Amino acid sequence: MIENSSVWVVSDVDGTLMDHSYDLTPAKDTIKTLQKLSIPIILCTSKTASEVKVIRKELNLTDPYIVENGAAIHGETLKKVNGKIILGKKYELLEEILNSISKEIDYKLTPLNSLNDQEATQLTGLKGNALNLMRDRHWSMPFLNPPSNLQEKINICSKKYNVDIFKGNRMSHLLSKNSNKGKAINALKNYSNIQNIKIIGLGDSPNDLPLFLNSDIRVVIPGVDGPNLNLLEQLKDLDFTLASEPNGYGWKNEINKLLNTLELI
Ligand SMILES: [Mg+2]
Repeated sequence: MIENSSVWVVSDVDGTLMDHSYDLTPAKDTIKTLQKLSIPIILCTSKTASEVKVIRKELNLTDPYIVENGAAIHGETLKKVNGKIILGKKYELLEEILNSISKEIDYKLTPLNSLNDQEATQLTGLKGNALNLMRDRHWSMPFLNPPSNLQEKINICSKKYNVDIFKGNRMSHLLSKNSNKGKAINALKNYSNIQNIKIIGLGDSPNDLPLFLNSDIRVVIPGVDGPNLNLLEQLKDLDFTLASEPNGYGWKNEINKLLNTLELI
């Protein structure tokens, strides 16, 4: 229960808790340790609720989870709000905004959900039913990364349409201004109504910046080719730890170190 602990682990999933082959094995023992200590593990991801349900099952997690880049929070234990808190705008509305931006920049921005199976597999590595789970999206709009020479124009448009656009490693995300990973963390804190929660935040890319800005302890997880340099630049004025190993290995090492230094174990 989130109400039973003053320390929360809030973690991105792709590239942070697991590598790009979607392997969760390296972090599993550490997750069990956290569970024994009753420290909640709040997954905080651009994935859909349908996708996260599979991961929660594999890890036996029962804590609330933040999906679609902070646009929605789900959890069986969020009883006062019937199991979910919505911060984002409807998918259909975000799609209209994406189309309007496409017209303004004279370049067709392609929603992730418009790709056929073969194209989606090539981009994400997901296959079969995993593609259906990925497409079960309601409050956020991932789209294919545009050519970098259009980025400035897109940023100007995002202000005009009052949305945020984050560029990730694999794709970009268009979101309502009211939804990001940081705003979702704050919504969950308000819901829990406990004071002085210490948030250990873990992430790997610039869409995790709002997560880090709302964390008390920040752990950047590198990939096999090293850390995301844009993210490091954005964090340069803040305290953070860069994990010494990639993905789930870095995740488990840093959490284990923190459990010792915070004397939680
Ligand atoms: Mg990530």
